[in-house]
Amino acid sequence: LVSFILYQSNMGTNIRTLIYIFGDMLNSVGAAGKVFEYLDREPQISNKGTLQPETLTGHVHFHNLSFSYPTRQERKVLQGFSLELRPGQLTALVGPSGGGKSTCVSLLERFYQPQQGEILLDGQPLHSYQHHYLHRKVAMVGQEPVLFSGSIKDNIAYGLADCSLERVQEAARRANAHSFISQLEKGYDTDVGERGGQMSGGEKQRIAIARALIREPQVLILDEVTSAGFTQICPSQTLLVIAHRLKTIERADQIVLIDQGTVLEQGTHQELMDRKGSYYKLRERLFTEDDTSH
Ligand code: ATP
Repeated sequence: LVSFILYQSNMGTNIRTLIYIFGDMLNSVGAAGKVFEYLDREPQISNKGTLQPETLTGHVHFHNLSFSYPTRQERKVLQGFSLELRPGQLTALVGPSGGGKSTCVSLLERFYQPQQGEILLDGQPLHSYQHHYLHRKVAMVGQEPVLFSGSIKDNIAYGLADCSLERVQEAARRANAHSFISQLEKGYDTDVGERGGQMSGGEKQRIAIARALIREPQVLILDEVTSAGFTQICPSQTLLVIAHRLKTIERADQIVLIDQGTVLEQGTHQELMDRKGSYYKLRERLFTEDDTSH
C-alpha cells in the first residue's frame, strides 16, 4: 500500500529516488567495508623465515596435507596427502586432470599455505626458510616458459651479475641445450626474438631449464617437459616432474599417481604395471585415447 501511495504521488517519486540513493549508499558502504576487511587481513603466506643453510640436500616431505583454495573453501583439493621426494631421484606426478598435481607444486612453491599438515625441506618447515633463499633453492620451469628479447646468454644469466660465458655454457650443457645453441650461427649471442619467438617450444624450454640450473637449485620442478634426457639434468638434486604423457616418465625413480587429492599408487613403472591397478588402467585409457585421436 505504501509503495502504491508513493508511486501515485510526485512527492513519492522524489522519496523513492532518495530511497534508491540511500540503498546504493548502503551497498557502497558494505562494499568498502569488504575492501577494508580484505586489506586488514593477515597475509596467508608469512615471509618471516630466516633459515639459509649453506648446504641443503633437497629432501622434501609433504606431510599429511589438507588444502582448499581460498576461493573454494568448501572443496578439499588435497586430503591427507603425504609424499617424500629424495635427492638424486626423479619423481613423476601423474593422474587424471584435476586430481591435484599442480596444487602440490603450488604449495611447494609456497603460493599457498596448507590448512593442515606441513611441507618439510631437509626436515624444516618451508616457512622457516628465508623467502629469497627458498625461491633460489626450489625452482620451477613451467609449460610455457617466458623468454625476453635479448641473447640466449642474457636469458640464461638473467638477474645474475658478472656471469661468465663458461658458467652459462655449463648450465646449458646440463639442460641439453648446448649442442643446439652451438649450431646457431651466433651461438650464445643469438637473439631469441620477441618473447622467444625465434625459438621452438622445446628450445625455449631447454633455455629456461638452463636459466633455472645456473642458480643451482636443490629442488627442480618441471611441468610437462617433453625434451628427452631430463634424468641426467640433476645427478644430486631432487627432480619433480608433472607428467601429462606417461611415456616420458617410465624411467622415473618413483611414479606417484594422484587422484582426488590423495596418493592412490606409488612405485616404479614396473612395480605399478605388475600391480595392474589404477596406473595400469590410466595408461591403457590414455593410450587408447591417443590411438583414436590419430
Ligand atoms: P591437470 O592435469 O588438468 O593440470 P591437476 O591434477 O594439476 O590437473 P590441479 O590443477 O591441482 O589438478 O587442480 C585440482 C583441483 O583444484 C581442481 O578441481 C581444480 O578445479 C581446483 N583448482 C585449481 N586451481 C584452483 C584455483 N586457483 N582456485 C580454485 N580452485 C582451483
